[in-house]
Amino acid sequence: MSVGRPTVLLEHHLKALKLPTILREYAPVAAVCAQERTDYPTYLERLAERELIDRERRAAERRIKAARFPVIKTLDTFDFAAQPSINEPLVRQLVSGEYLDRRENVLLVGNSGTGKTHLATALAFAACAQGRRVRFWTVTGLVTHLLEAREERQLERALKHLQRHELVVLDELGYVPFSKAGAELLFEVVSRAYERTSLIVTTNLPFEAWPEVCGSERLTGAILDRLTHRVHILEANPSYAVRASKPPWRQRHGRLEAEVVTTF
Ligand code: ADP
Ligand code: MG
Repeated sequence: MSVGRPTVLLEHHLKALKLPTILREYAPVAAVCAQERTDYPTYLERLAERELIDRERRAAERRIKAARFPVIKTLDTFDFAAQPSINEPLVRQLVSGEYLDRRENVLLVGNSGTGKTHLATALAFAACAQGRRVRFWTVTGLVTHLLEAREERQLERALKHLQRHELVVLDELGYVPFSKAGAELLFEVVSRAYERTSLIVTTNLPFEAWPEVCGSERLTGAILDRLTHRVHILEANPSYAVRASKPPWRQRHGRLEAEVVTTF
């Protein structure tokens, strides 16, 4: 193709319109289309399609970066045979992302090293690919961030920012006990997410041990009440009898039991 005035102008327009894929591809696609004797609309359609595909890929990359995963993990590398306690059909159903439309939560319970963070990341990664805004936090990281924001009188802003996500991962609940202020901030996060944002929480603690970490029975009850209102529970460790155990909060809030959407 000759490099004349039209080409220079065309390239200028494509840059101004922010169509980098068409800019890169218009000449080679034109050569192919000329050879195939395709009509102009077909040529244009092929270029538009390439731009659209690239644009979606770039947006997904931006969302993955913004999610701040510590390490990227996907379902492809998760060995279900090595972790038979995990409900594979439920994971496969969750990865489609419909729970996010219904603002449901996911709770991953199990000992250390059983793949909870891997699965939480894989579900959140899939959500990014589906065009959702996602943020990954360790629970302690988030609570520290919010405590700092409060000191700088930016708490409301930080909470609003969190609320703009469709999915927030809260990793590693239970490894570090909270201060009273920290537990109250966690309650604030769970409370604001309630029926607005989906949460994926990973924890090594069975429910009955939560009050110890959260500092009070009352606050734990309030957090669990909202978190488990509509929840999918994945258990990565058979020794944790989540289903069999009857922690006090479940007996007190009888309706919770009925509203667990799926369990292992
Ligand atoms: P947890 O969060 O439960 O402590 P992780 O998800 O961090 O455990 O798992 C520890 C490491 O082992 C990670 O590198 C993770 O990718 C890997 N891992 C754990 N379970 C599996 C599994 N079933 N298949 C593949 N990798 C796994
Ligand atoms: Mg982990």
